[in-house]
Amino acid sequence: MRTILLNPGPVSLSAGVRDALSGPDLCHREPEFATLQNQLREKLLRVYDCPADAWAAIVMTGSGTAAVEAMLLSCVPDNGRVLSVENGVYGDRMHRILSRGGINNERLALDWGAEITPALLHQALSANDYSHIAIVHHETTTGRLNKLGALAEVCAQTNTRMLLDGVSSFGAEHIDFDAWPIDACAATANKCLHGVPGTAFVITRRLALSQADDVQRSVYFDLNAYLQAQDRDGTPFTQSVQTFYALNQALDEFFQAGGRAARHRLFSQRMSAIGETLADLGVRRLLPAEQSSCVLHAFELPDTHNYADLHDALKARGFIIYAGQGALSAQVFRISAMGDIAEDDVERLRQALRDTLRA
Ligand SMILES: *Cc1c(COP(=O)(O)O)cnc(C)c1O
Repeated sequence: MRTILLNPGPVSLSAGVRDALSGPDLCHREPEFATLQNQLREKLLRVYDCPADAWAAIVMTGSGTAAVEAMLLSCVPDNGRVLSVENGVYGDRMHRILSRGGINNERLALDWGAEITPALLHQALSANDYSHIAIVHHETTTGRLNKLGALAEVCAQTNTRMLLDGVSSFGAEHIDFDAWPIDACAATANKCLHGVPGTAFVITRRLALSQADDVQRSVYFDLNAYLQAQDRDGTPFTQSVQTFYALNQALDEFFQAGGRAARHRLFSQRMSAIGETLADLGVRRLLPAEQSSCVLHAFELPDTHNYADLHDALKARGFIIYAGQGALSAQVFRISAMGDIAEDDVERLRQALRDTLRA
């Protein structure tokens, strides 16, 4: 019996993606590598139909945080000023990256799980002259899907550009690259796209990056260096070739399955089936389903079970769930719907939850 990962990445792999990892040895200075890298860049833009004249997908080797760090360190001009808008762990991480990178920033830090309302954002942006906001789309800490549509309107009104952490939403939730004032969105192979950890990427507006081309905050995380090299079929540093193969295959499977709308439906169906079973068992949600992403929901631990016992009982039945972070660690557990999971696996999970939580 294979173990099913219900943590928010890495995800359970399809057989095709696993096989792709054993592709041929390849030097990253050979034309075959350029073909592979170009295919990835083209397919990543296609996930949200971003036109290639205005947008670039920049691929790099690292975890999701590498892409977020590269985005923040590369996209803010020296005279820029960033409002870091936070309601969870990953928002806080962006603030830390900005501060350590010496970027002028302030934070709008809300309680974890709180809603970032347009009014709050408007007030914060009006109080000061910000060039950018840094914001997480799906805050994986709590499962909250921040309502970027309404917040994008506030940004447009105040002439503020958006830098998005889309790591746990890219490929499954709606992102309007056309209408929202997005300069860049960072994401990773091994969440909604079902690749393996090791490849991360940033979708950047070419114009925005060119306006920050004199920024020199980092060597490895310099997106302009990547962009220039990749537009010429190269790469500034060795890339993780095998995880590129895997992402290429994962993207083919993504499009074959119907793309982003299909993935949203699939995750939503899984999450509502799981949520229904937990509701029947008297388990409460941390947030209402309609405020949560389709990717992951957080549930309150029942009085009868601590996290370790629940985790271990489910692991013995072949399922890995995920703990809460920080102050939420004693209060919630999380279940994600990402990955190559069969309908039958979801049914077995529901039975495992019944067996465990009724016991
Ligand atoms: C997973 C995740 C990240 C990146 O985590 P890594 O461990 O670096 O891959 C960043 N932001 C969000 C919202 C995430 O869910």
